[in-house]
Amino acid sequence: MTRKAIYPGTFDPVTYGHLDIIARASILYDKVFVAVASSREKEPLFTAEERALMLKEETRTFGNVEVEVFNALVVDLAVSKSAKVIIRGLRMISDFEYEFQMALTNRKLNPDIETVFMMPKESYSYLSSRLIKEVACLGADISAFVPQNVENKLREKFKK
Ligand code: ADP
Repeated sequence: MTRKAIYPGTFDPVTYGHLDIIARASILYDKVFVAVASSREKEPLFTAEERALMLKEETRTFGNVEVEVFNALVVDLAVSKSAKVIIRGLRMISDFEYEFQMALTNRKLNPDIETVFMMPKESYSYLSSRLIKEVACLGADISAFVPQNVENKLREKFKK
């Protein structure tokens, strides 16, 4: 049996925290699908394609990670990929309420799909795409938070 998992998110943009979760998942599962939600209601800074491209570049060295954009329900995407598991990252207790609600909603929508939570390395547990965008916009050094390529893309965006 091939164990497959999907890791859905907005990834606007991908951070070292997301990459830490992907690395952990890629050890536990035979195949990990990173699913980039278009999340139009969140008005992302990067288009879904730009976000997916950055993720592809950063996950190229993993042999079992695939990245794609999706618009469907996460549980439906899991079924279409024959994945039984949804991976989510948990940073602080503040993530818990929203993640708990979403996991139980997804279970109601499809009881065959399990949500698995993973904690990143402590030093990444305070990282959020939102804060990184805020400080990058003000010209801060963000090299400890995102890979070089992502940092360059953020700088380009804020130059415009
Ligand atoms: P979403 O809009 O789905 O919350 P995000 O890109 O913000 O999309 O997050 C995707 C997933 O990655 C979520 O489960 C979130 O908790 C997790 N995540 C975000 N940042 C980190 C981090 N620094 N460390 C670990 N997990 C994280």
